[in-house]
Amino acid sequence: MRRKKRAAGVVIVLMALALVLVLTRRWSQAGTEEDTIREGTPVPAASLVPTESEASEQEPGAAGPEEPVQTEEPTHEHVWDGESGICLICGYACPHERHDAENAVCLQCGVLCRHRFGAAGVCDGCGMAAPLYTEDLPERYFAPAEHPGQVLHRTVTDKEGGEHRIAVWLPYDYNANGHYNLVLLIHGDNGSCDDWMDNERQSSRGKIRMCWIYDHLTEERLCPPFIVASMDNAGMEDPDYGERLIEETLLPYLSREFGTWMTGSSPEKIAAAREHIAIGGMSRGSLYSYSVGMDRCFDVAANFCCFSNGYEPSLAERLNDEEYGDLPIRCYVATVGTEDNQNYVTYHRMHYQALCQGVERLTDGENASFLEIKGGHEYLVWYTSIYDALLLMF
Ligand SMILES: [Zn+2]
Ligand SMILES: [Zn+2]
Ligand SMILES: [Zn+2]
Repeated sequence: MRRKKRAAGVVIVLMALALVLVLTRRWSQAGTEEDTIREGTPVPAASLVPTESEASEQEPGAAGPEEPVQTEEPTHEHVWDGESGICLICGYACPHERHDAENAVCLQCGVLCRHRFGAAGVCDGCGMAAPLYTEDLPERYFAPAEHPGQVLHRTVTDKEGGEHRIAVWLPYDYNANGHYNLVLLIHGDNGSCDDWMDNERQSSRGKIRMCWIYDHLTEERLCPPFIVASMDNAGMEDPDYGERLIEETLLPYLSREFGTWMTGSSPEKIAAAREHIAIGGMSRGSLYSYSVGMDRCFDVAANFCCFSNGYEPSLAERLNDEEYGDLPIRCYVATVGTEDNQNYVTYHRMHYQALCQGVERLTDGENASFLEIKGGHEYLVWYTSIYDALLLMF
């Protein structure tokens, strides 16, 4: 009886200690739940495991009949904190390696995760193929999501005092301390930065707003956490200007204002996050995604999504040159509407093929995809395109 009491006391003390450790860690990494989901790196828990002598103070069987007596790790069944995925007993952080395909629930700790399809379109957490669409998106995407995100409108000033309007979409569960992949999107002719955001467009499937796709993908946990930023594209026909706008004005601003993978606003810190940055656009914005994005900003972005237009024959050579030749390409998605102007269809496909042939580290079906989407030169095609690209990038 007394032994039992003492044992129970030891367990209670250990649990209390573990709880304090968990809370401290949770506080110190406030809002980085997404990091652990994304990176899945087990946090070394050696310092949190009871030492030999502490452990030996527990009498055999003290922890109760359910506790398996093992000499090697694990010495106990982890007791997971349902929110953080950290073991309440030993402080081990679950790496969330595997989750179930249906709900993306971690098979080890039960925490809600996200699918990670990657450029090849197969989730490395559950093996599910990315649910891509080239024809009709399911009906639910043509209405607002249950948890809409937020669209912010800002004016950013460059070094010369020039002002630039930008819009930023943040997910409903945005946490300023988190690390979000950043998608920079460029609009088409006669448009504005709101076209990639909450501007309403009429389509053959009814009214659509681009941000509905971001909302739904977030709600359905179909890709790692991301934010979207869009800028007015006036002046970007000059690649020098476009490069300065993105590298010297926009990215430093976004790195300071929002939770991204950029850990600072210096060129080095921004470049270090390039795998978590994407540049893309529709129509004219697609041309700029090549001429400004790939050609000039390849040092700060490793993901590209270009919809409905593109022809820059020298780009393969550029991506192989001395400056860029050693930088990996994480994902490249090109799309075109099947009913679009046949010149756009032909040239964009040729351009895609030329890049895959000319750049050894670009492989069709692995980190590059060309998708022919049902429709013309229209928002409905870009709606489906951005849905597909968001699943594949990151
Ligand atoms: Zn444990
Ligand atoms: Zn887990
Ligand atoms: Zn998955």
